[in-house]
Amino acid sequence: MWWNGPSFLRSVLYEAEVPDLPSDDEIPEMKPTVSVHIVMKFDEFPVLTKFESFRKTQRIVAYVLRFLSNCRKKKEDRVITPYPTIPELRGAMMKIVGAVQEQEFSREIDKIKAGENNHRLVSLNPFLDNGLLRLILPDKSPVIRSLLVATHRENMHVGVSSVITILRQQFWLLNGKSTVRKIIRNCVHCFRLSPTTIDLRSYRVNEEPVFAQVGVDYAGPIFVKQTARKATPVKSYICIFVCMVTKAIHLEAVENLSTEAFLAAFQRFVSRKGTPHTVYSDNDRSYPEETIRVVPNEGDCLENHSP
Ligand SMILES: [Zn+2]
Repeated sequence: MWWNGPSFLRSVLYEAEVPDLPSDDEIPEMKPTVSVHIVMKFDEFPVLTKFESFRKTQRIVAYVLRFLSNCRKKKEDRVITPYPTIPELRGAMMKIVGAVQEQEFSREIDKIKAGENNHRLVSLNPFLDNGLLRLILPDKSPVIRSLLVATHRENMHVGVSSVITILRQQFWLLNGKSTVRKIIRNCVHCFRLSPTTIDLRSYRVNEEPVFAQVGVDYAGPIFVKQTARKATPVKSYICIFVCMVTKAIHLEAVENLSTEAFLAAFQRFVSRKGTPHTVYSDNDRSYPEETIRVVPNEGDCLENHSP
């Protein structure tokens, strides 16, 4: 059995079983199969949004394009300068703009290719040149926003109209004014240097001991349980003493808005921080007139005469 197999294989009478195959007329209907191919567009380039600086992104794309170009050239013809050249940077800029346009204007580009005029860019009369939608930049792309930041910074932090003018030498930015205005509003450098109307009175900018010039105000109400369990929360307040010079703060809990409560809090404050020279407040009724006198020329300023 092991060496020769089953006996019927050696039998002369063995007849191979022929399977019953259906005739050609009886072939059952085969269900049609539908092949679906999903085409995915690699329209997101992580390198474009990886870096905050547009110029860095531009240099990286320029190096990538140089590598691709050098791969097709002979060794002696390859570009090996240590920095990307101006034409390389311009080419990188166009590639970046093209990639951004593919992301943001894919529908419009399809309609322009089909010769349709029912898209949102029709008023700009756009046209395609080597796959690039000439001269139009989308406003919501983070890459374009980084380009706007770079344009703003490289031109000595110029204003909205100047940024738009510089940009329009090459491109037309959609919603230009509002987009650039948002960019400049978020510029920390411009914010620091912008003239602001901060109330810088002498007692806020001259050197003084801490809590010599004090502003006082209330915060609250806050609800506090006075006893341990099942107590009804009662309204309380926080009396805030702010050093007008150093912005140091001192907090005191106050039971209510009465003059007695304020005086108790003020006494605790004086015990800890010393007697202030001047106390400024919003002239609330809880501040006692016999210890704090209203200074008429200073508006909302109170001068402290407490010991
Ligand atoms: Zn700026």
